[in-house]
Amino acid sequence: MPGNWGIKKGRAMDVKRLKALIEKKRGQMAADMMEMSRIPAVNPRMGGGGEYARMQWIMRWFDRRQIPYEVYEIPDQKVQEGVRLNVVATVPGTGEEDRSLWFISHVDTVGPGDADAWETDPFTPVEKDGRIYGLGCEDNSQSVITTMAACEVLFEEHIRIGRNIRFCYVSDEETGSEFGIKALIGKGLFGPGDEAIVPDGGSADGSFVEIAEKSQVWLKFTVNGRTSHAAMPHLGINACYIGMKFGAELEDALKTRFDREDPLFNPPGSTFELTQKFANVQSPNVMPGKDSFCMDMRVLPGDPVDEVMDYIYGLIGRYEKQYPGIAIEVEFLTRTDAPAPTPQQSQVVINLVEAIRETGTEAYSGGIGGGTCGAILRAEKIPAAVWATLDDRCHAPNEYVVVDNMVRDAGIYLSVIARYGAQGTEE
Ligand SMILES: [Zn+2]
Repeated sequence: MPGNWGIKKGRAMDVKRLKALIEKKRGQMAADMMEMSRIPAVNPRMGGGGEYARMQWIMRWFDRRQIPYEVYEIPDQKVQEGVRLNVVATVPGTGEEDRSLWFISHVDTVGPGDADAWETDPFTPVEKDGRIYGLGCEDNSQSVITTMAACEVLFEEHIRIGRNIRFCYVSDEETGSEFGIKALIGKGLFGPGDEAIVPDGGSADGSFVEIAEKSQVWLKFTVNGRTSHAAMPHLGINACYIGMKFGAELEDALKTRFDREDPLFNPPGSTFELTQKFANVQSPNVMPGKDSFCMDMRVLPGDPVDEVMDYIYGLIGRYEKQYPGIAIEVEFLTRTDAPAPTPQQSQVVINLVEAIRETGTEAYSGGIGGGTCGAILRAEKIPAAVWATLDDRCHAPNEYVVVDNMVRDAGIYLSVIARYGAQGTEE
């Protein structure tokens, strides 16, 4: 456990006052955002050099305030430094040290994408009209800066609650978290009594708390027949005809078979959509011997992906029997099985929803896309709420963060912590 917080125990948590202290940090938060965003942190598996330098900036920031933290180095030959860093600052609990409330932020970014689509240099942040533009400003620097500010207020005010409060800055979220949150889970950092807030998704009015997600599967089908001249079809097997027929029947059949709805989600049902289609032959008079296409599926938790796949294999079998000589291959381009949702009655969801309501915004919890550290924690049975106030500009040119949202979110995190304090064993 990190060093001495120099605590004066029993300091009451006056949320109004804490929010006023955060408001005073508005300028500092904006300046920190500008400074940090100048340090590239593109994920090494997306063509960048990684987040090492940005992690060091975070460490220096905590050093200057004498806020203790731990560093977890995970070896990765893909980066120049040979390791990926993960930083955890802990406000130790006052009686429930076996439980932690986590704030998880990721420090890596995606690449800038189409550079021409950016109106400013993605690596030179620009502040304009209450926004800061730059690569990663929203995803996930907003969370990095807001949680650091919240941590600083707790430190300056000598505030502790029953459980530990842990501010966690992870690497490698954008390409699977092997060197980030998954490695920290592997080191046993998370316990069964833990809960987490992951500020890596949300809505513009800050009303949406994500507690669930669908399974995400991308399938590539390849129908193998036999090429021939289109005027001599009896000499071949038309893979295009069979592929189109199979694809359309598959989509209809899946929509009928897996038609359950869950109001927690938007849209409420599973989705099955034929998407990408690959080029086959070069000429209109050639009957294709091969036909390839993709399907995007988002499946409600409760309908296991294996069950959906069994159904698909069944239809493939029927087609292969009906059209002798063909073979239909199916390949997973991506597969993430949805974990069980975070219960709506878990303390982290209740406290977060109440803290948002306190600002005059009616909050609601539900499910969407997923793919954050929240999903990985849910799979470990750790209740995780994905929430922030943002315009959803992630992975898009001209990404920006709204400075007002940073102030608002940091205040709400402190309000959530105060709610735990009121429930916990604070002296
Ligand atoms: Zn993110």
